[in-house]
Amino acid sequence: MKLRIDKMLSNIGVGSRKEIKQFAKNGLIKINDVVVKDSSKIIDTDIDVVKYNGETMKYVQHIYLMMNKPQGVVSATEDNYDKTVIDLLYDEDSFYEPFPVGRLDKDTEGLLLITNDGQLAHDLLSPKKHVDKTYYVEAAEEVTEEDIKTFDKGILLTEENYTTLPAKLEVIESGYPSKCYVTIREGKFHQVKRMFIAINNEVTYLKRVSMGPIKLDDKLKVGEYRHLTEEELEILK
Ligand code: URA
Repeated sequence: MKLRIDKMLSNIGVGSRKEIKQFAKNGLIKINDVVVKDSSKIIDTDIDVVKYNGETMKYVQHIYLMMNKPQGVVSATEDNYDKTVIDLLYDEDSFYEPFPVGRLDKDTEGLLLITNDGQLAHDLLSPKKHVDKTYYVEAAEEVTEEDIKTFDKGILLTEENYTTLPAKLEVIESGYPSKCYVTIREGKFHQVKRMFIAINNEVTYLKRVSMGPIKLDDKLKVGEYRHLTEEELEILK
């Protein structure tokens, strides 16, 4: 990709364009080991090696984060009342203008991907792609063999007269509460909660543990996030 040095360096958080102009004047920027004093010079990010203060700078156009979303924050970029997942990011991520890939309810925890890659978000959310999403669920009532079969057949969501695709219900413990994993392949509004209502049960705790091939890193505490690894990105794309 061809772009100006100041744009490249400001995009990856080295500083504002004005600051970068000054850094260049001070001789801190080198292209292919030659000092470049004009920060408006165009470089090719695929070929040229850009160094700032002796360190090689790699241009990235997109960022990919996984967050362990806490309860009480909304999956949006802005909100008039509530804290958003974007408010939980450090400042250095703000210039990428990232957004959450789909939504988790305010009271749902767990895996939320955050990116500024519109194409990837679109692919993951496209109803045609049927990306699996697995949730850990605690439910108020017992979960029966019959419920497993009902989920497997698909559940009628009465408001929109829509029957869900087959969903996998794996019971870890049936009781009061019951603990299970549910894997769905769509993302209808409050889908998991509504599927449990349809079997006369009630979700009391919901946490997403995976989305497609990406699993929530169990080292991430609630509210923490990290960049996806190269391997994770490779299997995702
Ligand atoms: N299903 C729900 O009911 N809520 C979520 O946040 C995600 C899936």
